Amino acid sequence: MSGVVMKDVIKKYGDVQVIHGIDLEIEDGEFCVFVGPSGCGKSTLLRMVAGLEETTQGTMSIGARDVTSMDPAERGVAMVFQTYALYPHMTVRDNMGFGLKMNGYPKAEIAEKVAEATRILKLEEYLDRKPAALSGGQRQRVSIGRAIVRGPEVFLFDEPLSNLDAELRVEMRVEIARLHKEIGATMIYVTHDQVEAMTLADKIVVLRKGNIEQVGAPLELYRNPDNKFVAGFIGSPAMNFLDGTSTGDAIALDDLDGHYRLPVGLPAEGTQVSMGIRPEHIEIDPAGKTHTVELTEALGGVSFVHLTSETGEKIIVEERGDVRSEEGAQVGMNFPLERAMLFDRKSGARIR
Ligand code: ADP
Ligand code: MG
Repeated sequence: MSGVVMKDVIKKYGDVQVIHGIDLEIEDGEFCVFVGPSGCGKSTLLRMVAGLEETTQGTMSIGARDVTSMDPAERGVAMVFQTYALYPHMTVRDNMGFGLKMNGYPKAEIAEKVAEATRILKLEEYLDRKPAALSGGQRQRVSIGRAIVRGPEVFLFDEPLSNLDAELRVEMRVEIARLHKEIGATMIYVTHDQVEAMTLADKIVVLRKGNIEQVGAPLELYRNPDNKFVAGFIGSPAMNFLDGTSTGDAIALDDLDGHYRLPVGLPAEGTQVSMGIRPEHIEIDPAGKTHTVELTEALGGVSFVHLTSETGEKIIVEERGDVRSEEGAQVGMNFPLERAMLFDRKSGARIR
């Protein structure tokens, strides 16, 4: 058993509090992703699990052990950083085995563990190379190998793919997913990239300003966000938001005619709301005249069509199929009401 449990965890730097009382349970063997915008506290929280940052208040447990005041080396964790932090003068083999060597492991055991990590990461051909003769992706594999040889209960990754180019990032993402399937250890992975979060996680923790906004499985967050922040953060391109006001039995949008009777508990008349609708749930109506096609991004299988209303409100629509909208055209848009989500504009809370 080596899940991770946080109870009312707080971090302060002097008078400045950056983590505001986090309660979280990560199951044994789970792949948990911390996601959120830059500066929201992802790295701080991860480093608190690692013991690289002191926990100001609250408790942190790994498995059955309270590790809150333990040294990093006692916690049974291994961390992989964005900067690979390899020793440039050592070969791949020595880089991976170095930590074990410093801890006095016998040579034969080190060789065995390095061989196993090498096999998992498909690094056989590179064992005698030095980091300078490796690509970015290979270097990051070596630094993951250095974590594997230590046989940790919990792997911690802090934006490990951010230094790689787009193609390699996709490749390494698949590698990391495979690694988790093969090793089955608990993993906590920090990223600001919601695509990485969606594709890797069993459980996503959305953080904002040192608080948890929502915890859930990727598709749960996508389909059923609790608030406007999560709705806007998960999904790419992001959900569209249209401002409007409740009439008590419908929503009147600032920018579109008609009354939208959303199948939710509508708030009191006069409440300012935001209606959310995802790009993939909107259809362009070539006969309509409410919007202008500002720009189309043709990605091949799909196009992202950027619409602007008369008042300048922007909407992105995902378009598939053989006929695509042309820039400059006047169009309308349709969407099924049951796909729209409603949020209180002031608090951002979901209205269900
Ligand atoms: P993220 O990894 O999500 O981008 P961080 O965890 O690095 O964010 O930072 C969270 C917040 O804590 C930021 O506002 C950052 O400025 C602050 N912070 C991080 N480290 C320190 C420090 N050593 N002293 C003071 N503030 C810090
Ligand atoms: Mg960070």
